[in-house]
Amino acid sequence: MTDRTFSILKPDATARNLTGKINAVIEEAGLRIVAQRRIRMSRAQAEKFYEVHSERPFYGELVDFMTSGPVVVQVLKGEGAVARYREVMGATNPAQAADGTIRKLFAVSMGENSVHGSDSDENARIEIAQFFDEADIVG
Ligand code: GDP
Repeated sequence: MTDRTFSILKPDATARNLTGKINAVIEEAGLRIVAQRRIRMSRAQAEKFYEVHSERPFYGELVDFMTSGPVVVQVLKGEGAVARYREVMGATNPAQAADGTIRKLFAVSMGENSVHGSDSDENARIEIAQFFDEADIVG
């Protein structure tokens, strides 16, 4: 399905009780939350999820952060969901994120930047499959 993307509300967001506020931005952007679950990511899950970054200097810090508290994993649905959500999230570094984006509104820093969104349709499929069964996605 090319109209889906995978989203994570990261530990800095759940710690500050921002799930509802971030979900409101997502929904106002025309994306539908068709699956959602609050979980504590295991170290193995986080390492696998961010495997593409395993050679980067911040990998250890990233895995530590993603396992430091609850996260909300989501499947979002809408036309051009991957690109639309990237637009709504804003730049990785909140200092460079456009006004009105989730990261501009809520992110703390480059690492603690409140949300994840898939960067391609193929990665969206892979990431959704890591956390959801098809039966749990109700769109
Ligand atoms: P994204 O697609 O916008 O999330 O950005 P990337 O795929 O480049 O990086 C994945 C995630 O790694 C980011 O969302 C950040 O949480 C984290 N990250 C990226 N760069 C840095 C960095 O320089 N320092 C730290 N601590 N984390 C980073």
